[in-house]
Amino acid sequence: MPASSPATPGTTLSNATKALNAWIEVDLDALANNARVLRETAGDATVIAVVKANAYGHGLDIVGPALEAAGIERFGVIFMPEALDLRATGVTRPVVVLGHSFPEDAAAAVANDITLTVDTNAQAEAVSEAALRAGKAPVPVHIKVDSGMHRFGLMPAEVAALASHVRGLGGVTLEALWTHLAMADHEDDSFTVQQDAVVQEAVRLVGGVPMRHIANTATTIRHPEFQYEGVRTGIGIYGALPDHTPNPGLQPVLSMKARLARVFDVAPGEGVSYGLTWRAERQSRVALVAVGYADGYNRGLSNRGQVLVRGRRCPVVGRVCMDHFLVDVTDVPGAATGDETVLIGEQGGETITAREVAAAIDTINYEVLAGLNRRLPRLGHRQGVLEATC
Ligand SMILES: *Cc1c(COP(=O)(O)O)cnc(C)c1O
Repeated sequence: MPASSPATPGTTLSNATKALNAWIEVDLDALANNARVLRETAGDATVIAVVKANAYGHGLDIVGPALEAAGIERFGVIFMPEALDLRATGVTRPVVVLGHSFPEDAAAAVANDITLTVDTNAQAEAVSEAALRAGKAPVPVHIKVDSGMHRFGLMPAEVAALASHVRGLGGVTLEALWTHLAMADHEDDSFTVQQDAVVQEAVRLVGGVPMRHIANTATTIRHPEFQYEGVRTGIGIYGALPDHTPNPGLQPVLSMKARLARVFDVAPGEGVSYGLTWRAERQSRVALVAVGYADGYNRGLSNRGQVLVRGRRCPVVGRVCMDHFLVDVTDVPGAATGDETVLIGEQGGETITAREVAAAIDTINYEVLAGLNRRLPRLGHRQGVLEATC
């Protein structure tokens, strides 16, 4: 946002959003609360906050520095460009790349103190050479164990072979073995237990490592015995929860809001939006919301979603378009242009959660949050006073 806009730090949210069609509010007090709660939940383990996918849609530029200020010790992303974006926010603590990267990424990783997960000899060699050239040797690398999810990572015997190659290189040191759990949010824990055993087997073959990290949010909360030296918490940082996971005191961080852009009458029998898939059965008041699937408001919410207007639930009517959708406000007395409407969040004691939005389109809260793209401005605030925007 331009510095001349009303959205400068210190402004109130209500002033900053006066002339915005739609926006996302990021509650930095809730974020700090969640960092503290997960820090306490994790005991002695290092909390690696996962900030992939633009911090699960919350806005990396706001979330990265706020989490570092809140005491988060390490960060996890999936790809190198995300790690560089995170460094660009000013975050200085360790960052680990959890997904696939290339030997070509080694120099930038070393230059920016970014830890790579290596899965080939060639990649380990590239990191080692870059570290020696930069005078930073040895730099840490991590190796991922495929403990049963069969997506990314190496089998224990392959881990041992790569680890011994790493030890011979001179420019790198093996800091951690880790894995990702396939069934962490299921009621039945037996597969998690099995995956843990595979990791311990890899650790034994390698002859020990300083750090093991296998737990995501669900496992961090449900299984302290799997916290080891590090936990990777994503969704919990944002105050949302995986299935079958109790809430240890996490608070939702994100709200998605808009202003009714127009409120108008629709006569009985008339249809609205593409395909005229909804027709008024009575004399109706319909409101235009300037948010669409291009913002991450899924088209599957056509005739299924709900929003809050004046504290009341109103149904989405007709198709969600790229930039707009419509809601039926016939039962909301006084609904008017400019009214604040809540797509995700709380208003007048009513709440629409990311989980509820997800359920309406048969997906998970992760996808709803991560799908919120960059067109909507993010407003980071504490108690309604603006602190940072992106
Ligand atoms: C996304 C991700 C996480 C975080 O998972 P949550 O369920 O959001 O806590 C941890 N590790 C890896 C490898 C991931 O991709």
